[in-house]
Amino acid sequence: MNDRSAEPEPLAAAQTFAGYAPAPESTSIVTLADRYDLWIGGEWRPPSEGRWFPTVNPASGEPIAEIAEGSAPDIDAAVAAARAAFDGPWAATSPSQRSRILFRIARLLQERAREFAVLESLDGGKPIRESRDVDVPLAAAHFFYHAGWADKLDWAFGGGVHARPVGVVGQIIPWNFPLLMAAWKLAPALAAGNTVVLKPAETTSLTALLLVEVLREAGLPAGVVNIVTGGGDAGAALAAHPGVDKIAFTGSTEVGRSIRRATAATGARLTLELGGKSAHVIYDDAPLDQAVEGAVQGIWFNQGHVCCAGSRLLVQESIADAFTERLVARMQRLRVGDPLDKNTDIGAINSGAQLARITELCEIAESEGARRVQTTAALPDRGWFFPPTIFTGVDTSHRIAVEEVFGPVLAVMTFRTPQEAIAKANSTPYGLAAGVWTSDGARILWTAERLRAGVVWANTYNQFDPASPFGGMRASGFGREGGRQGLDAYVNLEAAS
Ligand code: NAP
Ligand code: MG
Repeated sequence: MNDRSAEPEPLAAAQTFAGYAPAPESTSIVTLADRYDLWIGGEWRPPSEGRWFPTVNPASGEPIAEIAEGSAPDIDAAVAAARAAFDGPWAATSPSQRSRILFRIARLLQERAREFAVLESLDGGKPIRESRDVDVPLAAAHFFYHAGWADKLDWAFGGGVHARPVGVVGQIIPWNFPLLMAAWKLAPALAAGNTVVLKPAETTSLTALLLVEVLREAGLPAGVVNIVTGGGDAGAALAAHPGVDKIAFTGSTEVGRSIRRATAATGARLTLELGGKSAHVIYDDAPLDQAVEGAVQGIWFNQGHVCCAGSRLLVQESIADAFTERLVARMQRLRVGDPLDKNTDIGAINSGAQLARITELCEIAESEGARRVQTTAALPDRGWFFPPTIFTGVDTSHRIAVEEVFGPVLAVMTFRTPQEAIAKANSTPYGLAAGVWTSDGARILWTAERLRAGVVWANTYNQFDPASPFGGMRASGFGREGGRQGLDAYVNLEAAS
């Protein structure tokens, strides 16, 4: 039986964080320009339509810099620059030289890790603990890993083939892991010898723009990576551009669908990393306290702005009350606040629009009959924040059980038998990730085999490694990022003569 000797404290006693001295990270390491242009063909260029928009610190709501609003003519220029680099200096760069450049990018990211972490938290709202310990180290790890592949590509695909680059690649990324998503996209593309036009998300362009300094210092030739900031229109122009050979998109399922339509007209190759509503299955023989930590990590990592967040918790009925009680007690201890404070567990919601969406979905959940439990500690009085939230009494027909919230909101459901767990876990159009907690190894295999998800974690959650392919199925998209499988999307295989 599970050890219940360490009963959680009563909720009331755990509601305040009194006694924690603030430990804010200094922002002095970051130098912000007032205004950022587009990075095209190895130079900064003003946007063709002469418009800039503010990027905001979501923890204060205040603008911190102006970002160029790229549009279709800028995408044309960036694609032309990428093509010229593909046919010119990048084609003349040997695979082993590419490898050295990627290795240098990784080292420079490590050297400037604190600067990147502070800037990421400032622009995007994520806790410094995570940008420092997860986003930046993993971004560097992706460049290190792919530096190793750059001069071994012919061996990656089983022999008898040459792995050729695809050409000019358009990459469109979201705001939840801005630098990390740029690294996931750029590292394999460059390792395989492609050139890139990257479109960061509107609310979080700054770390991609800082990365330009690293790329230059690492010796990447002009035009190999071009960065066109801007809104969805710039992304749409890139997705539909006839000069692009491949599109790699990470973002919402809705936009993913429109991109698939656009590439149908151009014939560009495509990979889509889309949304999710991942099931996290807790069997009654799971180690309870560890599983509670797994659930915490599954839903409250990065404010729940995680495509593979374990947002549907399925707990076996016999332990559901005990488990939920401990989870609620643990939730009450999460510290919500200044993203730059090293004590902070939950930072700011990335934008006012996202906060409105989270708020609305929670109201709908209540109106449909689910019960809301939230932390009660005061939230900061400015910026965009949302308290960690659990819904119990959730039915599979509730919208909170099927729609992606993309916020710190967990839907808890119960099941009686493993078969029922599988049926409930698979009752969603998505198929990105899933988790299973049990002490029984055979049950892990039985469950993982039946879950319809691209990634299944067992007795852990949200683990990422550049050597391990990540990606979804069904409404969560197709294609893999990371590992040898992630390289597939960036090469054309030709028979060796
Ligand atoms: P989004 O609205 O789809 O935006 C993603 C990117 O596409 C942004 O750069 C966005 O630009 C751009 N965009 C918007 N409209 C476009 C259009 N019509 N054509 C081309 N590009 C367009 O998604 P988001 O809200 O930023 O990110 C959250 C979503 O990403 C969630 O659904 C999450 O699950 C998913 N996600 C998936 C993964 C994965 O690996 N599967 C990883 C992370 C996130 P703007 O920023 O200017 O709108
Ligand atoms: Mg911002």
